[in-house]
Amino acid sequence: MFQLDSLLRDNIRRLVPYSSARDEFHGSAQIFIDANENSLGSPLTRWYNRYPDPHQVRVKEALSKVKGIGPQHLFLGNGSDECIDILYRAFCNPGKDNVIINPPTYGMYEVSANINDVEVRRAVLMDDFQLDLIHLERLVDENSKLIWICSPNNPTGNSMNRQDIEIVLNNFPGLVVIDEAYINFSRHRSFIQELSDYPNLVVLQTMSKAWGLAGLRLGMAFASEAIIEVYNKVKPPYNISQATQELALKALEETEQVNDMIRTLVALRGELAGKLTQLPVVRQVFPSDANFLLVRVADAGAVYAHLLEEGIVVRDRSKVERCAGCLRITVGTERENDELIRAMQRLDADARHA
Ligand SMILES: *Cc1c(COP(=O)(O)O)cnc(C)c1O
Repeated sequence: MFQLDSLLRDNIRRLVPYSSARDEFHGSAQIFIDANENSLGSPLTRWYNRYPDPHQVRVKEALSKVKGIGPQHLFLGNGSDECIDILYRAFCNPGKDNVIINPPTYGMYEVSANINDVEVRRAVLMDDFQLDLIHLERLVDENSKLIWICSPNNPTGNSMNRQDIEIVLNNFPGLVVIDEAYINFSRHRSFIQELSDYPNLVVLQTMSKAWGLAGLRLGMAFASEAIIEVYNKVKPPYNISQATQELALKALEETEQVNDMIRTLVALRGELAGKLTQLPVVRQVFPSDANFLLVRVADAGAVYAHLLEEGIVVRDRSKVERCAGCLRITVGTERENDELIRAMQRLDADARHA
């Protein structure tokens, strides 16, 4: 049923990828004058006058140990954003094909579609924030190339039911992309171990959240070797800088520290949810498998403005479908969370006096 070749855009199937100097010469030599780099050096130390490894071999080896999956199943992008965009450019014919999203969800699936002139179809989540499989199925036609499933979902914080995801994987002939940006904060199992069962599965993860490296811009896609080959064909040759590769390698040695941060953030999330629930201004704190909470309040605009006056910025999601009255609040440090609670208590006190 699943045929990667027929999903691909014709121009990508025919594409002869750029071959860099580093691709064409492997091996050792004394003198490298093949890539028009600055032979004298750089204002920075060491390697920075040289182009980085286009295949990020060392980073992929280290990551594949951490993730328990072969490096041939791994693609690295300049943030998940690049992993998202390449799927559009490789699989979606502008003005013809369509993709399906499950809003409320991460905004980049739609923005990237718009940039690539690809139609977006919306299967809005049900009131429990789970997938609406009946609606989803109705939206699919022969030009549907991608289904985006964010789990745990941003901004709702919940994980999608595993069985529902499996139903989509088993029935949709296009690619099913599961965005697991927040998986490290969740009790649920990642789908990266299921790649051999699903040739149409792409799993996205990122160094931006649990790894604490949003500034580095390093996203990951996990998929079959055939899909990874497509990614590699379409990507800019040097999409991951030397600095990013070096720093990522260092960070990947610190899994213990990262696991500690994850445990701490999950504990702080629980404490914050408990304290928020007790505030009169708070209507509902939704369960979260991520490092943020979706919180329904009496008057989202007023709470947002009050917090801003106190120097605290949260995300107003009240205009988003199914999120009326909701703010999205990232779990802060213990002190930041305390300040947030105090600021919201002051709002309650002010409201009573008014
Ligand atoms: C934060 C986030 C990302 C991360 O994007 P990067 O480009 O890797 O920083 C991806 N997906 C979702 C759903 C997110 O919330």
